[in-house]
Amino acid sequence: VNRVTALGELLIDFTPSGYSDKGHGLFETNPGGAPANVLVALSNFDIQTSFIGKVGNDQFGHFLKNGLEQNKIDTTNLLFSDQVNTTLAFVHLDPTGDRSFHFYRNPGADIMLMEEDINEELIQQSEIFHFGSLSLTHEPAATATFKALEYAKKHNVMISYDPNLRIPLWDSLDRAKDMILKGLKYADIVKLSKEELVFLTGNEELEKGTEIIQSQYGCSVVFVTLGPEGCFYRSKSHSGKTSGFHVEVVDTTGAGDAFVGGALYKVLELNKHVNVLHRTELIEIVTFANAVGALATTKKGGIPSMPSKEEVEKMLLTKC
Ligand code: ATP
Repeated sequence: VNRVTALGELLIDFTPSGYSDKGHGLFETNPGGAPANVLVALSNFDIQTSFIGKVGNDQFGHFLKNGLEQNKIDTTNLLFSDQVNTTLAFVHLDPTGDRSFHFYRNPGADIMLMEEDINEELIQQSEIFHFGSLSLTHEPAATATFKALEYAKKHNVMISYDPNLRIPLWDSLDRAKDMILKGLKYADIVKLSKEELVFLTGNEELEKGTEIIQSQYGCSVVFVTLGPEGCFYRSKSHSGKTSGFHVEVVDTTGAGDAFVGGALYKVLELNKHVNVLHRTELIEIVTFANAVGALATTKKGGIPSMPSKEEVEKMLLTKC
């Protein structure tokens, strides 16, 4: 039985990969999309998962579907568009190694997901429904996402949210904020970066910012990931910071998604709703998620960098 369902973008990241003998830039086609990365992390821990989204009926769309299937993710609800091509993103690395993205999505198949494409039964039989904000930037995908969220709420499925703000994809910052906050109202578990916390709350302080998220939007658990410094967490009754693991970083792509996958795995293992977690359980979740996130930075790429359960267990021992 499927335990986690994720909805969102599935696209090709064209990542710089050296130069041809003519001196022209080469790109590698990497499967991309945060919700799918989260599912791969969970799949590596033997959790049954399913993906809801849309790709083009083109070579990239079929490549992406095969990639999910190779990672044992159910693709029954990954749909193909005959009208619109698979979304593409070109990754640019600046001299300091920072990444920026240029999206080819005018439109792209991921935003063509429709309300009637959402399978209520699939969501109903899941324990967790996970989503992000890339499916909120345009219609019809935004309405489809809210439909899925309504189904999750109706059937008491826990909802996990990682907004993953990508400013260039939005018409305006005001709309981005409105829509992301609208999504937040549904979330039981939310994972933010520090920048996203400031963007959404206008508050620089972790304690205050997360309190705003919790009191105004009703999220049971808020995680703010802090790169090498680990994570700040807040539940209704506890808050605190857990430090990260020391690793040799190769590529941080997918670290946030790995963190979410790790956190959701632990939530499933604890087998209780996130609104009744004790402090020790929260720390257990965050420590595990920090280990998964840290390991994801030690390998290149998104999907290929998701660690195995054995790697995570070994890493956790280094903290004992
Ligand atoms: P992404 O770029 O994938 O969207 P993010 O901003 O969502 O990342 P980060 O805070 O960069 O998330 O990383 C997520 C988690 O991964 C962190 O909370 C931490 O546990 C782990 N992590 C990230 N970078 C490092 C690092 N350099 N060393 C150790 N752990 C790291």
